[in-house]
Amino acid sequence: MSVVSLMRENIRNLEPYKCARDEAGGGMRVYLDANENYAPLTGWDGINRYPDSASLELRQAFSRVSGFPAHMLVAGNGSDELIDLLIRIFCNPGKDCVLVFPPTYGEYSVLASINDVKVVTCPLNEDFSLNVDAACDAVRRFSPKLVFFCSPNNPSGNLIDRKSILDVAAFNPGITVVDQAYADFAVEGAFTADDIMANERLVVLRTLSKAWALAGARCGFMAAGSEIAQKAYDVKYPYNVSLLTSSVAVRALEDVEGCKRRIAEIKRNRKLLMDRLRKLDGVREVFDSDANFFLVRFDDPVHVYNELKKKGVVVRDRSSQLHCDGCLRITVGSQAECDELVSSLEEIL
Ligand code: PMP
Repeated sequence: MSVVSLMRENIRNLEPYKCARDEAGGGMRVYLDANENYAPLTGWDGINRYPDSASLELRQAFSRVSGFPAHMLVAGNGSDELIDLLIRIFCNPGKDCVLVFPPTYGEYSVLASINDVKVVTCPLNEDFSLNVDAACDAVRRFSPKLVFFCSPNNPSGNLIDRKSILDVAAFNPGITVVDQAYADFAVEGAFTADDIMANERLVVLRTLSKAWALAGARCGFMAAGSEIAQKAYDVKYPYNVSLLTSSVAVRALEDVEGCKRRIAEIKRNRKLLMDRLRKLDGVREVFDSDANFFLVRFDDPVHVYNELKKKGVVVRDRSSQLHCDGCLRITVGSQAECDELVSSLEEIL
């Protein structure tokens, strides 16, 4: 089945909006086509003009660091926008469903629900690994339009085996999405352009919010084959990535060495923090992680959470999620923040 036939009929037949500038083509000198204001604000060169709707320079910059060719990339207002976009392209409200593997990132379900798209689940194993047979069974039973894998997985922090995901993706006649928001912290498990070339129903999501330290800028990317990428352009808001975001992101993406240094430091802090937490009374288990966070199982997570909060330290309570009884999710902070967390926990426990 071609990927186009998997799209909603109205989306297949969509007559997309054409931006003024795209219609004109390049080489123009006087721009009187887009009802912009001709006067830039002092110190904000170019902000009076609409940004490039295709975010070409930004995609080229991310292409250089990620290895995905720019033509396979679509830039978004965070990867959350791209999750929503995929749901809107493929899932008929009130009819289709998406498959997720709990415990996992909550936005897949929330965005599906907002779009009136049903969510079906196939639990990860208790050690947060993927049960490939159960996943294929769920695909066969529910025929989901989208299957969302998160690797490294949030909140558990572990990589989901690459080969297992590829096996399910090969079996799945629908679209398989691999959210790699935390891939920069893992030493393996990255999905590449070759994986997409081998299976056009595979889509990879990446973000600049984590290793690239740009959560406030809101910038994510989807890597996909040409038909999905083209449709994403047609469906997204025409100017979904602002000039401010693009210019900050392009500049940040030039500093590859700086990013590598930050990742190395986060991993160093992660190891030190885990070692210290493992020694504390009241800590039952510290889970290994391939991300910039990890789960910790406490004897009394509610008490720990509330007492930390009283001290102005906030972590994420994940104890109500499947296989996460007693677990708080802790983001790896700076050395000073880790020190403060440990000394606070020493007082509490
Ligand atoms: N995917 C996962 C797994 C996440 O944890 C997050 C954010 N916490 C996102 C996507 C969204 O990231 P962005 O800031 O790019 O929207």
